[in-house]
Amino acid sequence: MTIDISDLLKKKSGEKKIDLIIEASDFKSDEFIKFNKPVHLSGILNLLGDIINFDGIIRTELELVCSRCNENFNQNIDIPIVEKFSNKEKDINVFDDIIYFNGDNIDITDVIQNNIIMTLPIKMLCMEDCKGLCQNCGTNLNFHSCNCSKDTIDPRLSKLKDLFSAN
Ligand SMILES: [Zn+2]
Ligand SMILES: [Zn+2]
Repeated sequence: MTIDISDLLKKKSGEKKIDLIIEASDFKSDEFIKFNKPVHLSGILNLLGDIINFDGIIRTELELVCSRCNENFNQNIDIPIVEKFSNKEKDINVFDDIIYFNGDNIDITDVIQNNIIMTLPIKMLCMEDCKGLCQNCGTNLNFHSCNCSKDTIDPRLSKLKDLFSAN
């Protein structure tokens, strides 16, 4: 999805309100992230000199995989986005993070996806106290209990047990 800002670029300064729906299929899904719903992007583009400041909100719903129990779960996304854009190469340097675009159109899809990914925790949990999988038999301990759990109450004992079973 690109945003046409030719009208904004004709002026020296000014604002442009945007309110966009971007289809889920426009985004790259992988084994860790799937877009369940279209992305709703709203905000204001603000031209100041050669720099376009964008201040907005990203809303969607993702399907993620829990790092502990491997189950899929839905995650609501409602996050702010603040970015700077320029189509003048001289404005781009390593010290600030201005995103370069070519011509009159800002390609916003990757920018949105990167903003979402940056807000996700390294360990994504279906719920804060997810009990995870039994390391012994693989049972999802959120839904079932298994018979191994009694043996692992004392980790020292289980270490000892491993030693004996290894021989
Ligand atoms: Zn989980
Ligand atoms: Zn078990």
